[in-house]
Amino acid sequence: MPDFQDLYAQLFEKLGEITDIRHALALLQWDQEVYMPPKGAYARGQQLATLAGLEHRFFTDTEMRLLIDALRDRTEDLSPEQAALVRETAHDLDRAVRIPESLVRLFAEAQSRAYEEWVEARRGSDFQRFQPHLKTMVDLSREKAEYLGYEESPYDALLDEYERGMTASQLRPIFDVLAARQSALVARIAESPHHPEVTWLDQDWNEAAQIRFCEEVLRDMGYDFSAGRQDKSVHPFTTTFDVQDVRITTRVNPRDFLSALSSSVHEGGHALYEQGLPVAFRRTPLADAPSLGIHESQSRLWENIIGRSHPFFRRYLPRLQQLFPRQLDQVTSADLYRAANRVAPSLIRVDADECTYNLHVILRFEIETALIEGSIRPEHVPELWNSKMRVYLGVDVPDDAHGCLQDIHWAHGSFGYFPTYALGNLYSAQLMEQAKKDIPDLMNNVDGNAFPELLAWLRDRIHCYGRMKNAGEIIEAATGSRPSPEPFLRYLEEKYAVLYPA
Ligand code: ZN
Repeated sequence: MPDFQDLYAQLFEKLGEITDIRHALALLQWDQEVYMPPKGAYARGQQLATLAGLEHRFFTDTEMRLLIDALRDRTEDLSPEQAALVRETAHDLDRAVRIPESLVRLFAEAQSRAYEEWVEARRGSDFQRFQPHLKTMVDLSREKAEYLGYEESPYDALLDEYERGMTASQLRPIFDVLAARQSALVARIAESPHHPEVTWLDQDWNEAAQIRFCEEVLRDMGYDFSAGRQDKSVHPFTTTFDVQDVRITTRVNPRDFLSALSSSVHEGGHALYEQGLPVAFRRTPLADAPSLGIHESQSRLWENIIGRSHPFFRRYLPRLQQLFPRQLDQVTSADLYRAANRVAPSLIRVDADECTYNLHVILRFEIETALIEGSIRPEHVPELWNSKMRVYLGVDVPDDAHGCLQDIHWAHGSFGYFPTYALGNLYSAQLMEQAKKDIPDLMNNVDGNAFPELLAWLRDRIHCYGRMKNAGEIIEAATGSRPSPEPFLRYLEEKYAVLYPA
């Protein structure tokens, strides 16, 4: 009769070592983006590959499989946290061992070639150059889906890596509703005579003052600088080495201070989640979000619903006027609010506003599901892209660099990633609707206790679970209803009816 607690202790210790390797990898990647001199790239690539190989070997070795096999059917002998750790580890291990190593290697090689060709193709706006690599990534991803297994669509096997349990057939009706109502909203806004005047935004904004302001806002949000730090990088991101070492990066645009602000608040939302994971879960896979969509809900909630609200700008206008007296002398909080929420259909997803963002995602979802399901071929992508941009956003795509070549995801073989951005938006609005019911006067109190109260609510409803619950269970437990697009559409339609009256 084996002692299950003894086996569990072995598993816990082994997962601790694996997590250490993962966090060391993350630290090397963080350094690569933030501090590493350009000539360090070669050696860094080797170091990352060595550690990644070591981590994979450790995670998929016989000892791990024996431990999981012994523990997975005996979870009734374990505490709920222990059982969750076994369940989540078994899930990760099943995924990791289903794909043969030969395919993992092929995929990694094709990925780095596709990435290099994508960079050049985008530079020259030359889809032909990228097309064979897109085909390779689609073919390998379809093969990967076959190994992983699925019920309805091979796309589901890929989507599952980012949003556990979600399927294309669940997403389609949700995205149809969003596409119809958001396209209609964007068309209405285009007709409105009330477009804000934002020429005052295009001035010089001192970089040090921008960074200082962002740090003050982060501190107010509850980001713990003794358990993290903020640096600059080309693409802003959040990374975690432990629940007490969660770092963020931001980018600064010297001609638009709203850019650094929104990226800091966005990454701050991600970081609050990571800093709020239970210390008891550290060095285990439980110290993580159950899906990318739920992680993104935290960043979007702070960035858009809080950080683009009028009370937010009312609170921070006096401080901004101290930091930028010349630029903001004549500017009101209403001007800031309207500037931060201006709507203009555009070509580039990462620059999109709240009203158009999901439309960019839906277009990608429709194309990538068709690619993975085999109903279209890679050569059809540019034409399909351009016609969908016209239908959803009313814009003409001048070239593929501003069209289907703009994102890295497909070069990376990350099919199934895009929907998590839209799900993040939906979850954020659903959570916020509930938070406003639970915390009376929340938005009228942004000057006072709103941030700490909201953070405490998010800690209690979301952060504390780590991977103990999946995304759908977290949303349902927090709000009393299944994930739905309605709260997001309500939020959007109410907010923009006032900003852009007919
Ligand atoms: Zn994000």
